[in-house]
Amino acid sequence: MSTILASVAVQNGSPSRASLEVLSRARQIADGQGATCAAVVLSPDASAVADELARYGAQKVYTVSDPIFARHINTPVLTALEAVIAEAQPSIVVFPSSEGVKDVLGALAVRTGAAVLPDVASVEMKDGGVEALRPVMAAKFMARTRAEGDLVLVSVRAGSYEAVEAPTEAAVEEIVFSFDEATLRQTLREVVGSTAGTVDLSDAQVVVAAGRGVKDEAGKQLVEELADVLGAAIGSSRAVVESGMFPATAQIGQTGKVVSPDLYIGVGISGAIQHVAGMSNSRIIVAINTNPDAPIFDVATYGIVGDLYKVLPILIEEIKKVKAVAA
Ligand SMILES: Cc1cc2nc3c(=O)[nH]c(=O)nc-3n(C[C@H](O)[C@H](O)[C@H](O)COP(=O)(O)OP(=O)(O)OC[C@H]3O[C@@H](n4cnc5c(N)ncnc54)[C@H](O)[C@@H]3O)c2cc1C
Repeated sequence: MSTILASVAVQNGSPSRASLEVLSRARQIADGQGATCAAVVLSPDASAVADELARYGAQKVYTVSDPIFARHINTPVLTALEAVIAEAQPSIVVFPSSEGVKDVLGALAVRTGAAVLPDVASVEMKDGGVEALRPVMAAKFMARTRAEGDLVLVSVRAGSYEAVEAPTEAAVEEIVFSFDEATLRQTLREVVGSTAGTVDLSDAQVVVAAGRGVKDEAGKQLVEELADVLGAAIGSSRAVVESGMFPATAQIGQTGKVVSPDLYIGVGISGAIQHVAGMSNSRIIVAINTNPDAPIFDVATYGIVGDLYKVLPILIEEIKKVKAVAA
């Protein structure tokens, strides 16, 4: 029986939301093919998440536990994934699209002789091959791409699929792994954390993004307060990063991060194509802008034409009231 393998990233001790999404998609594909749905986890204590992966449909979990996986370093990740692929013999490996995955996907394909479909928005088995839709040209177009062969590696954009529970029993297989750090030719010197908000942007379910309409410290504080009451991550346009108001790690778009939250609120953002490329996959898009012709309204689910300095205080107060009633 063939295997569809989902690669799972662990964040703060739990599988990331994007990982559970790709695992759910792997399970759907496996169900359609009469294949086994499996997951692979590289983490200091990989077996700790096996039960949760079974809850999302993993019938088999390959664990590779080593302290080296506390941070992302390409070479050990590649070595471990290569070992798991040799053991599991999957026909497809589905990854959540991320910077780390982007780093290893090409090298893993070379090592394993696989075909690669990177950063796709949908993936399915069709006529004996793997077909995927891939946003191209700053997400202005979708390209239908197809890969064939014994092994296909696919990375899927966050938010493309729902994470759906499908409880099952998982057989756990620990893969023996050792890696001599002294052989590394590249070292990770320091991880510089983001200072924009406390919630991780790429994995956030709610994002409040600031644009050039946020002109000063008072506007910045309103954005931070809105993010705070919503438990949201803070993002921004490039214009705001260039002004120094938010760090580069907050930038959303073609040359920044791709986000796909349940709710994205764009505050004083015009909706340039390079920005929209990074947020158009969001489920609900709210735009607040004084200009009714701003292009952000073309992609918005709800639009508020108004001055953010007047709209945000009202919005914050109303959200606080709703939360107080709900509490
Ligand atoms: C190669 C390349 C790559 C790029 N990559 C990115 C990227 O990754 N991400 C990105 O964001 N940009 C990127 N850009 C820049 C992009 O083209 C835009 O310049 C940028 O997104 C504009 O940011 P903005 O919407 O904040 O500013 P603006 O376009 O200046 O828009 C500000 C908006 O705020 C509104 N506004 C003003 N005052 C108020 C108020 N008081 N209340 C409410 N609304 C108000 C205005 O009506 C306006 O629509 C890239 C550009 C290039 C050339």
